[in-house]
Amino acid sequence: MLDSKKYFPTLANNPDLAYFDSAASTQTHEAVLKAMNNYYCNFRSNTNRGEYDISERTSNALDIAKQQVADLVNVSSDSIMFTSGTTQGLNMIARWMKDKKRIIVTEAEHNANIVPWLTQGKSSADESIIVMPINDFDGLINLNELETILEKTSDGWQDTMVSFCATSNVTGVTQPWQDIATLSHKYGATVCIDFCQTIAHHEIDLKENQIEFAVFSAHKMYGPTGIGVLYSSFDFNDLIPLYYGGGAVESVTFDSVILKQGVNKHCPGTPDIANIIGFGVACEMIKYVGYSLIKLQELDVLKHLLSYGIDVLPNCRVFPANGFEDSVISIIPITGHSSDIGQLMAHTGVAVRTGKVCAHPLVDRISGSKGIIRISFAPYNTEEDCEKLCRELAIALVKVK
Ligand code: PLP
Repeated sequence: MLDSKKYFPTLANNPDLAYFDSAASTQTHEAVLKAMNNYYCNFRSNTNRGEYDISERTSNALDIAKQQVADLVNVSSDSIMFTSGTTQGLNMIARWMKDKKRIIVTEAEHNANIVPWLTQGKSSADESIIVMPINDFDGLINLNELETILEKTSDGWQDTMVSFCATSNVTGVTQPWQDIATLSHKYGATVCIDFCQTIAHHEIDLKENQIEFAVFSAHKMYGPTGIGVLYSSFDFNDLIPLYYGGGAVESVTFDSVILKQGVNKHCPGTPDIANIIGFGVACEMIKYVGYSLIKLQELDVLKHLLSYGIDVLPNCRVFPANGFEDSVISIIPITGHSSDIGQLMAHTGVAVRTGKVCAHPLVDRISGSKGIIRISFAPYNTEEDCEKLCRELAIALVKVK
């Protein structure tokens, strides 16, 4: 279901494209598109506001989709709400948690888990943001260092927030997020995890791990763009709504409003119905295929890349040093600029991502002004793609020398 281009219309319609930018966005599966199109063609209507048949169908489809998303991460559907994506989710969490005295993050954060905290007045200059460095060899943080920081800073549960991406969009390395959460909880910290780069590759059980907040986006997991999810183990009644309007209210006068209860009080306006339906199908499909098969299929692609010499390319180094284990491989050119290399490759029909990949602090540290060349793959990448990528990348790296 995931290991052939025929299921991914953009790949099927661009047969010469070697697409290695799945960490930016995976391709959308045809089953997702069919479900979305089915809504538009057969029961296009708003939800919960009509008693007629197609509106009922829409409401039911939304309930099913919500359950499908919740099931993938083993939580109740009452504990999740839809967002426009991980970025919106992290912004909401930063606003809710703005009174925390300090936020512990990793050096590998996407800007989406940095800027929302900065806008709440946090900063590393006054240690209201504490940054855990990652190891240049394997891309992991040091848990002993984290414990030392937590020990020093824990002066009450309200004070510390540990907010981090489980999987880096620069390295593809997945932190031991369960251990980080357990350690953080031991010292009374609140935990928020960005699973944006994790969800397509690794099983996530939020119930078992008792995380307070988690976020991810559908477009990184074969679903549509512009839709994501925010999970919280907190009672949504205790979180202040950040948006107001219709749909989230029980009653309104010109003097007062009574909001709905639970997660519904946070969801005013018409939901992104087609995208939510597509998101549900993407979750269902990943569950059906299973993470162990996905891993095997990704390993097959990696084997092809290695057999065509991804690990012996000229004029570059890989980051982290042990960087050939995940579905992301980041390469730093020794001479030349990453975007020049990306452009040379684009002319040959190879799509990779270059530059700072929205993770400025880490990429600045490891590459200076050069930026990285990020190769990210998925089960649908073929041996032919891998051969083309390695060939064109080697040529481009030599050309910029
Ligand atoms: N966090 C990580 C680790 C990411 O890789 C991304 C996107 O690349 C984001 C957050 C932002 O996700 P979105 O653009 O879907 O809001």
